[in-house]
Amino acid sequence: MHDQPTSQTRRGPDEIREAMNHDWEAGNILMGEIFRRGFDSYAAHVQDIAGTFALEDRTVRCIDEGTPGGIHFAGSGILADFEDAVAWMQAAAVDGVTSHTGCGAANLYAQRSGRDLSEAEKLGIEHAQRIAAALGVPYRGHITKLKRPPEYHDARVIYVDDTGTFDSDRSSGLPRGLLISRAHLNPAYALQEVEVAISITLGDHGFGERFTPASPLMLAAVRPSRSPERDAALMQIAGKFSGRVRVDVFGAPDA
Ligand SMILES: [Zn+2]
Repeated sequence: MHDQPTSQTRRGPDEIREAMNHDWEAGNILMGEIFRRGFDSYAAHVQDIAGTFALEDRTVRCIDEGTPGGIHFAGSGILADFEDAVAWMQAAAVDGVTSHTGCGAANLYAQRSGRDLSEAEKLGIEHAQRIAAALGVPYRGHITKLKRPPEYHDARVIYVDDTGTFDSDRSSGLPRGLLISRAHLNPAYALQEVEVAISITLGDHGFGERFTPASPLMLAAVRPSRSPERDAALMQIAGKFSGRVRVDVFGAPDA
């Protein structure tokens, strides 16, 4: 499931819908098991779970599940106050900044600033370059080969990472998910990114209406140690979606 086609071959709407249905079905067994057992109990038995708490670099990428690894801010911080984003990235000791193709956060930024959607790609690149310059770290380029299908989001989970070291893509036993590095963000602003992530996954570019109270989107808070507490802030957000969004928590294995 991790090696999705990323080629430029154009697929028609029917083909895309069929591929989405296929990917959704393929993910149901895993999600069913997580819903039954609870994420903490499930994750504790994932064979390579300890290896998911390690970063290969500290480069900023989007929260998009197609841009795994490193540290994650929506659109590399394009939706945040610029000075705040610089301060958070400095504190996180980031070593580079990227942008990426088909960025939902850049689209939202274009919308919010009254620009044409066709400018989103350019705005995302300019933002990443500008923030890299402010930080004095390299702009590491525009990611065009996403680790997801180019036309849609295949995430079943939104990981909200309080460890600052989590990378779900390093394990084949974890579901596909967007990843928000809450450990490196102001907690209130992190919740805004959670709302953006929900709007992407529940929207037309995500699995959308396939998420129901019987098979909800999961917000998974990722904690530094086992026996994690409930996440009241995430539960308050989830409460707005009539059962289509559920919250769970799991902790890193104790060393
Ligand atoms: Zn993005």
